[in-house]
Amino acid sequence: MAHRVTLIPGDGIGPELADATRRVLDASGVAFDWEVQDAGEGVMAQYGTPLPEHVLESIRRNKVALKGPITTPVGSGFRSVNVTLRQTLGLYANLRPARSIKGLETRYDDVDLVIVRENTEDLYAGIEHMVGPDAAESIKIITRAASERIARFAFEYAVANGRRKVTAVHKANIMKLSDGLFLESCRTVAADYEGRIEFEDRIVDNMCMQLVQKPELYDVMVLPNLYGDIVSDLCAGLVGGLGVAPGANIGIEASVFEPVHGSAPKYAGLDKANPTALILSGVLMLRHLGEQDAAVRVETALRDVIAEGAHTTYDLGGSTGTAGFADAIIERLGTSAGAAS
Ligand code: NAD
Repeated sequence: MAHRVTLIPGDGIGPELADATRRVLDASGVAFDWEVQDAGEGVMAQYGTPLPEHVLESIRRNKVALKGPITTPVGSGFRSVNVTLRQTLGLYANLRPARSIKGLETRYDDVDLVIVRENTEDLYAGIEHMVGPDAAESIKIITRAASERIARFAFEYAVANGRRKVTAVHKANIMKLSDGLFLESCRTVAADYEGRIEFEDRIVDNMCMQLVQKPELYDVMVLPNLYGDIVSDLCAGLVGGLGVAPGANIGIEASVFEPVHGSAPKYAGLDKANPTALILSGVLMLRHLGEQDAAVRVETALRDVIAEGAHTTYDLGGSTGTAGFADAIIERLGTSAGAAS
């Protein structure tokens, strides 16, 4: 039976990346029934909101969505669709693997990190206001329930994926109550995994320096929302940049798979942007759907094409466009399917 999936192409480079990714996933042999739903800047005029209710309904119904990036204007304007989506659908865990890809010139060859970012609270709770005309206040929310839930997700991920260690990242030396509660919650959950998964904690600024100098020391990291956002871009930089960094937003009732990067408006419509991050988000989706074999084949074909280097996008040092890159992966998938039969 076909997997029914909500596909949100998004803004900027999103539609061309979504088209490339959809073609690659269709070529994997897994049957998809794509329900395409528009959200973002393009639907504002028609619906008065960048995230119409019927898009949320589609995700609730299908329980799985693949999503391109959506623009959030800085300062005034509408609230981030991405944050709203995560909060409305209770997508509490943001999973962002960062693994080296052979053929990409980066500082290290063997980075293999997993970011588990709390996705619903912290400074992203969206509670902020002016205090008179010259001061603004944003409120950081950290709860025991959400902190223990994300810590448990990180440990369960570590167990299920044969990882050895979870590192909790915080700034509890300064924010003794909020980050202190996050750390305490992680310690509580860690006790349930003693002897199976190692646990340690790091202060976020030190963590950033250590990741740049010695990424091999780390494995799975669990972070509150804001640090998770920042540290995952740092980790993307270690493995080749935003063009290759995938992500998954996992909830109890639905999951939304999307790249770490944004809509890169300056490249929109130019057939230049790298579809790797969205395709790898599709690989995470295949795993989530239980399609392990297809996940391995798509990821291998993608990695092979990058390693060969003849058909890659500008950010990976090549000159092939988005569509041509996808074509090369599809051709490779066809070859590997032929070799296997
Ligand atoms: P961005 O990720 O869109 O772009 C930063 C730079 O990274 C680009 O100039 C480009 O050089 C590079 N880049 C990003 N994706 C690439 C790709 N696939 N291929 C090649 N190069 C790529 O970040 P930004 O400029 O800070 O944000 C632009 C918009 O995207 C903003 O409105 C922001 O709010 C939004 N955004 C959305 C999401 C999301 O939908 N989840 C995430 C981050 C940012």
